[in-house]
Amino acid sequence: MARLWSILSHTLIILLLTALTQIGGIAWLLALRVRRWRLVAFAAAYAGLWMAAVSLAPLQGRVPLPCHGETLQMQSPLYCVMLRHFVTPELAEVAHDIAADVAAAHPGTVTLALDGSFPFLDGMPLLPHLSHHDGRKLDFAFFYTDDAGKYLPGKTRSPIGYFAFELPGDPVCPPARLTLRWQFAWLQPLWPDRPLNAARTETLLRATLSHPKLDRLFLEPPLAAQLGVQAHPKLRFQGCRAARHDDHIHMQI
Ligand SMILES: [Zn+2]
Repeated sequence: MARLWSILSHTLIILLLTALTQIGGIAWLLALRVRRWRLVAFAAAYAGLWMAAVSLAPLQGRVPLPCHGETLQMQSPLYCVMLRHFVTPELAEVAHDIAADVAAAHPGTVTLALDGSFPFLDGMPLLPHLSHHDGRKLDFAFFYTDDAGKYLPGKTRSPIGYFAFELPGDPVCPPARLTLRWQFAWLQPLWPDRPLNAARTETLLRATLSHPKLDRLFLEPPLAAQLGVQAHPKLRFQGCRAARHDDHIHMQI
């Protein structure tokens, strides 16, 4: 019984780590050979696999977005640690173009990227996103200000850039059971009160929408209307079953 429980718990850990980081499950499998200091062994295995993944991913057609950059960077080092910052070279170029446009309009602005894709395997989704499985999708964080309306470089409302919703309640979709349209109402009061930086967020939206390689962009319709980009043909609504997009921007090429 104890052995069954051990196999089950390690399988769960491997599945969870694989879903979160792609390589984490393999690192745990390697660490299982070590009895003492298993967490240290896991960290060492993970670090080794991480470095191998970063160097091998370009051979598979994926490149990492910058963890530190002057105009574009990942919103949190966590995305880099978890290998969720990979895109195709083409999308990396598009993201850099867009961030350069934003910085040209608002000097000193750093565009923050959120989830991209994992470094390997087309078709493996980057949960909880269903579509981030081929390196051709990327999420951007909104820009925020302090109470006085001053731009807060590198800052979002939630620590990971997601789940701080701009629209109160859900003005778009009726309540449903089978949906990824999480509300997280209990979470909302925990975020700092940082107003949306409408000027920079609008510039980011316009730069993305006008990029010739863009296929589509997801943003909740009421927010798109507020920011004046509602009529663009590449602006789409993702539907009521998928995650809401009033906490971040989704774009794909
Ligand atoms: Zn997305």
